[in-house]
Amino acid sequence: MTTTMGRPSAATKARRLLPEGRLMVKRVDPEKGLIVAQCRGDSGEVYDLGYDPIKKEWRCTCAEMKGNCSHLQALKLVVVV
Ligand SMILES: [Zn+2]
Repeated sequence: MTTTMGRPSAATKARRLLPEGRLMVKRVDPEKGLIVAQCRGDSGEVYDLGYDPIKKEWRCTCAEMKGNCSHLQALKLVVVV
């Protein structure tokens, strides 16, 4: 495992979220391109995340990294847009 900042990168963390069962995909609508999911954070908090086809953007209720947090990266590992 390689890190550049002394803490796991969002990509590394994303890969850990999946086997830990912390990502829950609630709804996928392939026609609209809508994705709704929830992810449990390190201290048990639950974030709502997904893809908004109207604004065409990935969103997560956590305040990390604006659209590229570990939760969204985990979601992108399991869904294809
Ligand atoms: Zn997030």
